Amino acid sequence: MRLILPVLATLFATPAAAQDAPRWSLAIHGGAGVIERDKLSPEQDKAIRAALNRALAAGSAVLDKGGSALDAVEAAIHVLEDDPHFNAGRGAVFTWDGHNELDAAIMDGRTRAAGAVAGVTATRHPVSLARAIMEKSDHVFLAGAGADAFSRAQKLEQADPSWFATPERRRQLETLKAKNLSAIDVDRKYGTVGAVARDVNGHVAAATSTGGITGKRWSRIGDAPVIGAGTYADDRACAVSATGAGEYFIREGVAHEICARIRFKGESAQAAADAVMAEVQALGGDGGVIVNTPAGITAWSYNTPGMYRGRVSAGGAPTVAIYRDEP
Ligand code: ASP
Repeated sequence: MRLILPVLATLFATPAAAQDAPRWSLAIHGGAGVIERDKLSPEQDKAIRAALNRALAAGSAVLDKGGSALDAVEAAIHVLEDDPHFNAGRGAVFTWDGHNELDAAIMDGRTRAAGAVAGVTATRHPVSLARAIMEKSDHVFLAGAGADAFSRAQKLEQADPSWFATPERRRQLETLKAKNLSAIDVDRKYGTVGAVARDVNGHVAAATSTGGITGKRWSRIGDAPVIGAGTYADDRACAVSATGAGEYFIREGVAHEICARIRFKGESAQAAADAVMAEVQALGGDGGVIVNTPAGITAWSYNTPGMYRGRVSAGGAPTVAIYRDEP
């Protein structure tokens, strides 16, 4: 009897995750890096928190009405793509040649359908181009001029190059060239944006959008649009969006690796995210990830001093944070 009781208790216990499962949940990021209190002016701090809150509100509005995780991540990303504080859409970093080349991806955990785009130059919302590729083409990944043409053919909103370009990002490119810095050293922070949602039906989705890294050349593509590296979603495990030094995230297969640990090892979202970020760090990379699960458990993990981040779940108040010492 002494043996049987604990076994029965385990068999019939509702898993903690299921007990606590919110009706829906959403987590977002706006990049990781050397983000410390003395690096941001009070105005920047305030504007970034306001933008994160607006993105959470846009995604929550979808989820609260019973909308899909896919629609929610797209809605949240639209807000961040339009906000010049983040390295995605408007405010994207400059290439070596002084242009903005945008990468994005979206994935539906329900079907594992995915769409991704790299090096596009004229679509106001690259995440929606990724979604159009997923839903309206036979392909997963389009790049460059062909992807721009597909965007026009799909009648997605086009924007002039001046829409994406901001003086601050141009200054960063000029500093990089003048001081011969690396893409990372010029600003010491990444500004990619991402969202992971779980909807009322228990489906998850992930999306990521970025300008890549300052001074990128030769049509360099980072991890954000690489399915399994910067973006992944699978209802059997989790949804992940990453930010950081893309080359390391590609080599580690970060987003898929986190989902695989959850699926095959039964790890929690936090444990899996921490373990994979430790692997990235061991390779020499830095950055962070956000994770959401079919039980609506959100987690983030990063090895940088800060990460722009936020989360909200049904019935709860949204929280946003920037620095490591914030909850
Ligand atoms: N991960 C992105 C890239 O390597 C950069 C970022 O997170 O800001 O393209």
